[in-house]
Amino acid sequence: MSLSFIKTWVFDLDNTLYPPEENIFSQIDEKMTSFIAENLKISHEEAFNIQKQNFIDHGTTLAGFMNTGNNKINPDKFLEYVHDINLSSLKADNKLRKILLMLPGEKYIFTNGTKKHAENVIKRLNLENIFHSIFGIKEANYLPKPNIETYNLFLKINNIDPKTSIMFEDMGRNLIPAKKLGMTTVLLERKLPNKNNSEQKEKYKDLWNDDYDADYIIDDIVKFLNNEYN
Ligand SMILES: [Mg+2]
Repeated sequence: MSLSFIKTWVFDLDNTLYPPEENIFSQIDEKMTSFIAENLKISHEEAFNIQKQNFIDHGTTLAGFMNTGNNKINPDKFLEYVHDINLSSLKADNKLRKILLMLPGEKYIFTNGTKKHAENVIKRLNLENIFHSIFGIKEANYLPKPNIETYNLFLKINNIDPKTSIMFEDMGRNLIPAKKLGMTTVLLERKLPNKNNSEQKEKYKDLWNDDYDADYIIDDIVKFLNNEYN
């Protein structure tokens, strides 16, 4: 299958534009646990279980609190706290930069994190001035992927035709609505969702790839795009 019909390139951010081995998302994961434990005055273990259950039931940890009207978790304070992390492991990815610049058409970031976090990550990866815009959780009115309403909003405000667009993601479930709307889907197979915590990883190991049968299942964006375009 050729990608020559693709006019719009949509990328998730965390664990998609860089691998989980960089230990970025695992920091966010841990900060979410401590924020919940502190604000709800519960143990870390209880906080972690609520966090993961929210993620399973509501798309993100935060959405779970918002949907159930839990006012002990302030959304903006939560987002600011969990994205305040050390990005020093991220290095310029010039191979990715080069191939992204070769792709015809507009590129977008579509993330359940904040736009500010995405900007910080993009800067570290040397991927500035590539993406047309960043659609983060606030732009989504706090309604995360995989809610299909958010995909509709994202497509509408950016005037994107899903039939000529392709979406890259590390979470299979986030590609299901994309496919339903007519987008081409690419799943990044990631093996290490949270390398700091193998016990938790085992318990929640099915959260990441979900056995979703994407149009393409790959382990390296640069290699995949180079095959298509070089
Ligand atoms: Mg991701």
